[in-house]
Amino acid sequence: MMETPFQHCSACGSSGLIACNEREFTCPICQFRHFITPIPAAVALILDASGRILITRRAHQPGLGLLGLPGGVIEGGETGEEACSRETLEEVGLNIPAKAFRYIRSLPNQYPFQGFVWPTLDLFYLAEIETFEGIVLQRSEVSESLLLSLSEVPYSDFAFASNAEAVRLLKDQMH
Ligand SMILES: [Zn+2]
Repeated sequence: MMETPFQHCSACGSSGLIACNEREFTCPICQFRHFITPIPAAVALILDASGRILITRRAHQPGLGLLGLPGGVIEGGETGEEACSRETLEEVGLNIPAKAFRYIRSLPNQYPFQGFVWPTLDLFYLAEIETFEGIVLQRSEVSESLLLSLSEVPYSDFAFASNAEAVRLLKDQMH
């Protein structure tokens, strides 16, 4: 993994950016400042009427084959709730409106991408729906969906500790 995602200045193309600290890199030629700041991601905790949660198995890196939750990077202009709704539809084919998602909490995470470990901030939202009927997996993203009671979730099998932690907190909350 690289120590900085900025090999060259994005303004003038010079190399040899100077690390002012772990999140700021300045061009020695034109002084353009490059930053590494947390990328917000929305993550969906979805329960059905019998209290089962929808867990996904990841079909790509990072965390290929490990467990995850529907979600992803929030796009410009979107709310976290809208991102949850969009990502859930894209990944598992469930059409859950944004207003059905309620904010639970945030947890920091790290996401290896293109040779650099990016800081992210996972925002977790809960939606309670009647049934998981109608799940259609986007195979490029999800290889399997698991519908599990909160007491039988294999917490150590998650790709990201933040996801396991959020499900564990939800389990504590529901009891
Ligand atoms: Zn420059």
